[in-house]
Amino acid sequence: MNKTLVTGGAGFLGSHLCDRLIKDGHDVLCVDNFFTGSKRNVAHLMGNAYFELMRHDVTFPLYVEVEQIYNLACPASPIHYQHDPVQTTKTSVHGAINMLGLAKRVKARIFQASTSEVYGDPLVHPQPESYWGHVNTIGPRSCYDEGKRCAETLFFDYHRQHNLDIKVVRIFNTYGPRMHPNDGRVVSNFIVQALKGEDITIYGDGSQSRSFCYVDDLIEGFVRLMATEPGFTGPMNMGNPNEFTMLELAEKVLHTVGGHSKLVFQPLPVDDPKQRQPDIALARSKLAWEPKVQLDDGLKETVAYFKKLLGA
Ligand code: NAD
Ligand code: UDP
Repeated sequence: MNKTLVTGGAGFLGSHLCDRLIKDGHDVLCVDNFFTGSKRNVAHLMGNAYFELMRHDVTFPLYVEVEQIYNLACPASPIHYQHDPVQTTKTSVHGAINMLGLAKRVKARIFQASTSEVYGDPLVHPQPESYWGHVNTIGPRSCYDEGKRCAETLFFDYHRQHNLDIKVVRIFNTYGPRMHPNDGRVVSNFIVQALKGEDITIYGDGSQSRSFCYVDDLIEGFVRLMATEPGFTGPMNMGNPNEFTMLELAEKVLHTVGGHSKLVFQPLPVDDPKQRQPDIALARSKLAWEPKVQLDDGLKETVAYFKKLLGA
């Protein structure tokens, strides 16, 4: 039985990963400081003898004995990561150093949840892993983007210098049940607004685009990447290449939820990327992986979750 550590395990993606690892027979240690995550996301696992929850901040060292580490701890939505930007950089950088140090001591395989934000506001479209990015070092998104870029650097230096067995995934916008209702991300915002009958807030003119991956597809990709042979490091893009404008997304959400919400236009946030779409050729060829859940179907599941959560 694999002893597996998931940092950020009480968050949106982390809790789905814990579910999957428990289902696959791992002995899971979930570590979280509950900044954006919640015990509610893993409450259903608490009675399981092979699931353990530990309150801990990854910017401090952690001494445990495990065989695999998934490092997901980091606030992911702009509202949350900009709330305390210094702590965001510390979580990415000190957190990576601490988890890499742990992996080195116990000789564990270690997985890093990196992000499409390492490409910044990309000048190449779609973005292959070989693209170095177009990132502002001093803007409001930089604490997250540069923190994640530095974490990738640390992962590859530990790999080269200490022969660590690393796997780095660059995640593109992912959505699904257990997203934080107030995290300001577009899918949760639009759904919550539509369910409450409030105006749908389109930033800018709504022509900017994103590609949305359903959480179950992503977790399948994580598990496949983690199972690749030692020496295969990534970085590997994961996301859904189907691209939609924010106006198209708003229409789909309204269609799924129903109701009478109006669209209102608000200023575009600073450094908001104009378009983003993963090139997933590497994941397709190496893992035979590609997303299966269409946006309409994933939205239905996500709307059902928020309906229950909000009692709507
Ligand atoms: P999330 O905010 O739901 O989860 C992050 C978790 O990390 C939370 O449970 C939070 O409490 C915890 N955390 C934050 N700082 C911590 C610290 N210092 N110590 C311990 N725990 C800490 O976000 P998510 O969407 O589940 O994202 C998970 C990971 O995936 C993040 O690293 C994020 O950067 C990455 N990612 C997510 C997306 C996406 O679309 N969801 C896209 C790109 C990258
Ligand atoms: N967005 C929007 N209305 C909202 C929230 C977000 O139009 O209520 C836009 C945002 O400006 C961005 C896109 O939706 O262009 C995706 O935003 P999100 O924060 O979900 O992800 P990211 O910008 O990190 O891709």
